[in-house]
Amino acid sequence: MINPIQELLDDLHRRFQAVHEGEIASYIPELAHADRDSFGLAVATLDGHLYEAGDSSLPFTIQSVSKPFVYALALADRGPDAVLARVGVQPMGEAFNSITLESDTGRPLNPMVNAGAIVMSSLVAGVGFEAQFERILAGLSEFAGRSLDLDERVLASEQSTGDRNRAIAYLMRNAGSLSGDVEEVLSVYFRQCSIRVTTRDLAVMAATLANQGVNPLSGRAVVAPLEAGHTLIVMGTCGMYDYAGEWLFRVGWPAKSGVSGGIAAALPLQFGIGIFSPPLDRFGNSVRGIALCEELSARLGLHLLRPERRSAPVVYWSTRENGVLTLALQGGLGFAEAESVVRNVLADADSDSTRGVILDLNRVGHAQSIALSLLDALVRRLKERGIVTVVVDQLGRCLIDTTGYSCVTLDEALAWIRNELLARGGSH
Ligand code: GLU
Repeated sequence: MINPIQELLDDLHRRFQAVHEGEIASYIPELAHADRDSFGLAVATLDGHLYEAGDSSLPFTIQSVSKPFVYALALADRGPDAVLARVGVQPMGEAFNSITLESDTGRPLNPMVNAGAIVMSSLVAGVGFEAQFERILAGLSEFAGRSLDLDERVLASEQSTGDRNRAIAYLMRNAGSLSGDVEEVLSVYFRQCSIRVTTRDLAVMAATLANQGVNPLSGRAVVAPLEAGHTLIVMGTCGMYDYAGEWLFRVGWPAKSGVSGGIAAALPLQFGIGIFSPPLDRFGNSVRGIALCEELSARLGLHLLRPERRSAPVVYWSTRENGVLTLALQGGLGFAEAESVVRNVLADADSDSTRGVILDLNRVGHAQSIALSLLDALVRRLKERGIVTVVVDQLGRCLIDTTGYSCVTLDEALAWIRNELLARGGSH
């Protein structure tokens, strides 16, 4: 049977294939040979499934889509403080190849523009530039879940026409923001941009960032959750050239585009998207890619800053009998859910007759640590007031550890609390 999601992607792919605007980048002459009709789309889920449409296995050079992944590697190798000391996280309203540095520090504004990306290429681990490039190639291969290689023709083409990047790099060395041999650093950067990927690779690489750094195909941790998270944030504010603000407004995902026509977009804890279509708009973003993402975001309600309220109420059932308040919780527990539980239980406990509280967590899926520490604090307060609390959780997850009493079923909890209250004196 046809999967409706595959059907939707096929339909979007077919419709946007008919868009013919945009210019293929030619300032790197070899890129101009791309076929304007090539069009690939891939979505990688966090359990490792791939949806693909069109030319999803056609190779092309990654170009600037390498930048967030190299940034993640630099964060992993040097730590966030050292990286932040060298390159900021400030979006800028200028072109990707602008020669702007922060006036007081000389730092490039962010790692998604060439200046910042060149510094990142110099920061990844490795003794000597050859080793640093090996680190990048191996790291990006880990993000993709397969061994990537270089497009030597694009590399030669970029190397022979890359004077603007040379100018940026020399300027940075002069300003003290880039150390080492400029030509060596640039050779790492140029090679990084010439790594060959497919649309499918971009989807898996993005899914790895969305999956807190763990590649959903290989199951391997490529970077730590914090490093993946920092990278997504910078993609969110700086990833789409001078369209970044409007992209966030219209589409609302962390993403990075490149001059060869690639886009990698990552929806945290949901999935990764890869797109390839060479004709670019005036900002340097793939025309078909932007149009497709706008529609995908709107149709599937995927804008991250306009979340739909999809969850059921956190308390799905509650009762108060013989001085015992029972709350059965469901769904995911975040700060907002825990706040409402804490407030409701405290309001009830303020009425003098409350002697016991049962929190049934059997239907709670994931729980954020802030939610659990709020519930912990709640249980501690109740204890101080002499109110007995029992947690029910058949999965034995020990989500709340201050109670001392936990049961598997609600019946067990009720029986236990009845006995406990009897033992403490005074039945009802
Ligand atoms: N290698 C390209 C450059 O440095 C990458 C540019 C891009 O994709 O934005 O000019």
